[in-house]
Amino acid sequence: MSAETIKAVCKMIFFGENVYNFEKYYSMAEFILPHEHGEEKGMEKIKNNLSNNESFITVADLFQQLSDPTRIRIFWLLCHYEECVINISAILEMSSPAVSHHLRPLKNSGLIVSRRDGKEVYYRAADTEECRLLHKMIEEVMEIKCPN
Ligand SMILES: [Zn+2]
Repeated sequence: MSAETIKAVCKMIFFGENVYNFEKYYSMAEFILPHEHGEEKGMEKIKNNLSNNESFITVADLFQQLSDPTRIRIFWLLCHYEECVINISAILEMSSPAVSHHLRPLKNSGLIVSRRDGKEVYYRAADTEECRLLHKMIEEVMEIKCPN
């Protein structure tokens, strides 16, 4: 018997058509904290969100892209200016291949976007809420004002 079938049968036996009470009882019966401290109000919502592991993987991936100080410097620069690899290299005093090495994962993760104009390729931070939050977070943590 599948978990869904068991749930449906329990629902019929104990709660009739009162779905709300059933769901409430079922989730509470499923999860009992080993220690009761009287601070567990709203824990069900937290528990439900925590079970959504895929969303946490997405957040971890995002942070992983910025788990390198050089990558953060490049990302932060590109939050303010659209630049080509050569100029990014000059600003950060790094080799072009080293900059390209960091641009690739930033682009793959959607944190930066590129635009080709003739032979030149320009990079800038993507216009997304994630990028705005990371931009703000970097400046908040570093306690610097946004130069823009
Ligand atoms: Zn800024």
